[in-house]
Amino acid sequence: MTATAPREEQLWSRCAGCASLLYRKRLRRNLDVCPECGEHARLAAPERLRQLVDPGSLRPLPDELPEADPIDFVDVLPYPHRLSAARASTGLTEAVVCATATIGGHPAVLAVMDFRFLGGSLGCAVGELITRAAERALDDRVPLILITASGGARMQEGTLSLMQMATVSQAIAALREAGLLTVSVLTDPTYGGVAASFATNTDLVLAESGARMGFAGPRVIRQVTGRALPEGFQTADVLLRHGQVDMVVQRRSLRGRLGALLAATRPARAGRPPSLPVPRQEPAPLREHLPDADPALPADPTPPTTPGASAVRDAWDTVRMARHPGRPTTLDYLDSVFDGFVELHGDRLGGDCPAIVGGVARLADRHVMVIGHQKGHTTAELMARNFGMASPAGHRKALRLMRLAARLGLPVVTLVDTPGADPGVSAEEQGQAAAIAENILTLTVLPTPVLAVITGEGGSGGALALAVADRVLMLENAVYSVISPEGCAAILWPDRSAAPQAARALRLTAPDLCRLGVVDEVVPEPSTAAHDNPAETAHRLRAALLTNLLPLLDVPPAMLVRLRRQRFRRFGSTRAGVRAGVR
Ligand SMILES: [Zn+2]
Repeated sequence: MTATAPREEQLWSRCAGCASLLYRKRLRRNLDVCPECGEHARLAAPERLRQLVDPGSLRPLPDELPEADPIDFVDVLPYPHRLSAARASTGLTEAVVCATATIGGHPAVLAVMDFRFLGGSLGCAVGELITRAAERALDDRVPLILITASGGARMQEGTLSLMQMATVSQAIAALREAGLLTVSVLTDPTYGGVAASFATNTDLVLAESGARMGFAGPRVIRQVTGRALPEGFQTADVLLRHGQVDMVVQRRSLRGRLGALLAATRPARAGRPPSLPVPRQEPAPLREHLPDADPALPADPTPPTTPGASAVRDAWDTVRMARHPGRPTTLDYLDSVFDGFVELHGDRLGGDCPAIVGGVARLADRHVMVIGHQKGHTTAELMARNFGMASPAGHRKALRLMRLAARLGLPVVTLVDTPGADPGVSAEEQGQAAAIAENILTLTVLPTPVLAVITGEGGSGGALALAVADRVLMLENAVYSVISPEGCAAILWPDRSAAPQAARALRLTAPDLCRLGVVDEVVPEPSTAAHDNPAETAHRLRAALLTNLLPLLDVPPAMLVRLRRQRFRRFGSTRAGVRAGVR
């Protein structure tokens, strides 16, 4: 709803749905739903909380966090300027407001996102605040309710914002293990990294009437497919028809519906003790939590191998190197690094995605489960493999193989090389966001060693769906990013030709990500590049895999999971926290 004229703006607003001129007080009484056409206007987080919880029960959780600009991001404006402007215009500290409250007399912890604040984007502070809210729910043994509104991960914080998808997901996994209910309420709009993590990996997913949810946005899909989108694409009613949400709820019924769900799930919650006590975890580097006497883990921090060339190579040149069609693919590595690969197919739900290959293989004399994105060298190969962009069937095949590996006691090695998940209509209809979200969550609790290698392009959520691991390695000329440089340039710069600047600003190279702690070790490539000497690249990759995998094999699974969670928990406030000496 937009105000009509400055003089009248306190009194009247115009409906975005039917353009009716509405008396503001009447609109507010009607919960900002147009009485003429039923359009649900977007709500600010404080107003949303006021509408949902029992009067007098709201207790906001602290939201003070140190200033964060973890990668010193500058587009046409420095990131801190954008943050200050968002704070001034919303009166909020960040894009989420967290609180404890009761709904229909039932206690819960709520985290409510606010789209007005930088598009509700998920940055380190937002991830940290939601994670703390989830930890509060765990401490209080009450349900967690997430009200989402977001354009996706916050690109101004680079790959660290991508890590938040894992951080919040593992907090949700801890609530699952403790038998505590998690509910997400999708409001308009919920996209990208938020859709592909905590908006869809909760126990229950409700959609407010008129909400739209998806992994890729409609504009991107239209651009990629060159086709008009089906009627109602990604809207709540269509999501319900495709099995993506539990129910669509009118705003006026939301409070009652949440109250009823909290009441219905209460006995089970109260009666069942947590199956796995999950100690509250402080964010800290993995190493500090290792018992001194345990020689089982890799001696660390493995000093990042100092690669010669890329220390001076421009980020954009590295992007082009990572995309080089001659670069070895997952199937090439399965041939050169591993022995006896036996491919396994299918998600058991109706599909087998060619962009993901997986199966059992031997690494030296150890059996492992290998899962990776497959691109190709020729146009025909690339097309047959959908350019390495996995569909939901691909993510579900990967999920099946990860779980199988854990059951069989096999370690998992993933090879990540994808521009991103498939930005298509049917991928969205088949639940792209939820498929990625489930993989991320499952990896945070998988009771077997997981070793990930970014071998080429690590594109956003599609990459993270295979990269929540105990150790994350990266080939020297690979890249790993929250968004493609072209996509970032199109949004924050006047146009796509700024992709080289965006590539530099995003800190997507292996040495940068090693410094940020996202990556544990850089695997050096032959002096020119991987594609010039695939045999030597394979030799180096094999050595790095063995060095990093073997020590993990002796760690008890429960401890592996605990350490993996600490690894991802530290990205929350971390950079900021470390700088300011907080927590
Ligand atoms: Zn209207």
